[in-house]
Amino acid sequence: MSARLTYLDWNATAPILPEVAAAMADWLARCGNASSVHRAGRAARQAVEAARHEVAALAGAPADHVTFTGSGTEANQMVLAGISGRRLVSALEHDSLRAGPEIELIPARRDGTIDLAALEKMTEMGDSPALVSVMFANNETGITQPVAEAARLAHRSGALYHTDAVQAAGKLELRGVGADLVTLSAHKIGGPQGVGALIAPPDLTLSPLVRGGGQERGRRAGTENVAGLVGFGIAARRAAERAGDAAAIAALRDEAERRLCAIAPDARIFGADAPRVANTLCIAMPRVPAATQVMALDLAGVMVSAGAACSSGKLRRSPVLEAMGVPPELADCAIRISLGWSTSAADIDHLVEAWGALYVRTKVHAA
Ligand code: PLP
Repeated sequence: MSARLTYLDWNATAPILPEVAAAMADWLARCGNASSVHRAGRAARQAVEAARHEVAALAGAPADHVTFTGSGTEANQMVLAGISGRRLVSALEHDSLRAGPEIELIPARRDGTIDLAALEKMTEMGDSPALVSVMFANNETGITQPVAEAARLAHRSGALYHTDAVQAAGKLELRGVGADLVTLSAHKIGGPQGVGALIAPPDLTLSPLVRGGGQERGRRAGTENVAGLVGFGIAARRAAERAGDAAAIAALRDEAERRLCAIAPDARIFGADAPRVANTLCIAMPRVPAATQVMALDLAGVMVSAGAACSSGKLRRSPVLEAMGVPPELADCAIRISLGWSTSAADIDHLVEAWGALYVRTKVHAA
């Protein structure tokens, strides 16, 4: 077991920012329901609305477009449950968007971007679509999608355009892509787990997923998670301020990629030929199952994830790599390495050393 620990699984969750944890602890110690009219309630309401402004600013939307949810998953499900009619959803989406009944999958190209020509055909065939959903940045490969073009095709056919920006927030500019609906999640940007948002115009009819009290303008019932939302607000402000970190993170990622490929000339990088967010590296070590790599790296103190892991921790073939036409035997050997704002050159050294040692060991055994 290694004494040194290196966390390179930021796309799964980012560490909570110390100031977020401190502000949340302060709010957890207070009492106040944001719907109550007395002073404790009004203070809670004020905190929730301040957080709404911060999250809106990150998304480049007015504050009344923000509906807080219990996760990015819930925001995605709100879109699927709230909009009826034909829904065209990219084959590269997170499970939370592909888990809807009667969705039509927009195929992907081998480079990991969606097939815009296929989307165009789909919008022209049959009934007019009600919704087109194409994510901003992919959680497994980091590949960014042609969101502005997808929005244009959606709008031309009269459909609403949704983008899951969970992995793009804080990394890419979210404004000006023309999305009607945007999904965000707090824990990918230094906020708490279990808090998300759906950005959507207030006059858009969205039948609610969670009914009951009239919270969130009737879009999402349930007493607001004040401490969680306060944390989300601070994390959103910091994410907007961190936009300039991308170049330094990309330099570390590219250095890791270069060194891993120098050790293993047969390694395969997914997304090398497509635009990617700065922090993500999806790499296959041929003939070594992803689970073996994740376990060996963990024993060496390096935490990454299998591109093909699902939430239960079990392995299954990655639908994203499958949609990109990656052969199953290679997809099963893909791991995801994801960096963040505190990743250092020493973390990359640790990764390269551990992954390189495994590569050499497996070569010796195979020889
Ligand atoms: N969308 C993408 C692209 C994600 O990567 C994730 C989480 O991994 C989600 C949605 C779900 O967000 P949450 O963990 O808040 O449910």
